[in-house]
Amino acid sequence: MAQRILIVEDEANIADSLVTGLREEGYAVEHAADGLSAWQRLESTSWDLVLLDWWLPVEDGLALLRRFRQRDRRTPVLFLTARGQVSYRVLGLDSGADDYLCKPFDFDELLARVRALIRRREDQADTRLVYRDIAVDLVAQRAERAGRPLDLSAKELALLSFFLRHPERLLSRAEIYEQVWHEPLDAESNTLGVHVMELRRRLESHGPRVVHTLRGRGYWFGAPPGAGREGAP
Ligand code: CA
Repeated sequence: MAQRILIVEDEANIADSLVTGLREEGYAVEHAADGLSAWQRLESTSWDLVLLDWWLPVEDGLALLRRFRQRDRRTPVLFLTARGQVSYRVLGLDSGADDYLCKPFDFDELLARVRALIRRREDQADTRLVYRDIAVDLVAQRAERAGRPLDLSAKELALLSFFLRHPERLLSRAEIYEQVWHEPLDAESNTLGVHVMELRRRLESHGPRVVHTLRGRGYWFGAPPGAGREGAP
């Protein structure tokens, strides 16, 4: 599946060349031209990388980054800025950017940094599963939401880990049960439903609903399905 990159840039010519260039490299790219529409896209779906311009209408890139980092500490953010001075670069990195590039930049260098940031994220994926403000540390066997620990049973943790590995798609009850319980689903059993209910209760004490029931079809983990996005049921 193509990696998803959000470009937040108000200068149309720069945005166009980034969109075109990154699509040619096989990335799935979307573009937001101001802070508000950028925030809506950050809220509504998950990204493998965000390219963020500093100067933006409505809300500047730095404020946007700080807000985003309050709930997502893992999605890599590459700052694009004309502000080359050290103090600005430090401010960007301290506010949660993973890397920065000063305008005007060389597209090959941008590509190399994009690849490096996405690779680093994939390396971490072996020990840590993350969706927005929800994370599972597979080594420590601990889960958290919005920085606060979730007290989960072993099965609830396994169930959450399965959801985190398969965000934003329809998951049938049979599929989930087989993967998490390692045995076929007994149609009469309500074990899965009970665990989903308990997991929901714990997740929702720190944020909005992320485990959605699609009646008669299964479950959907992530932003509410059917929000007009591609692939949503
Ligand atoms: Ca700008």
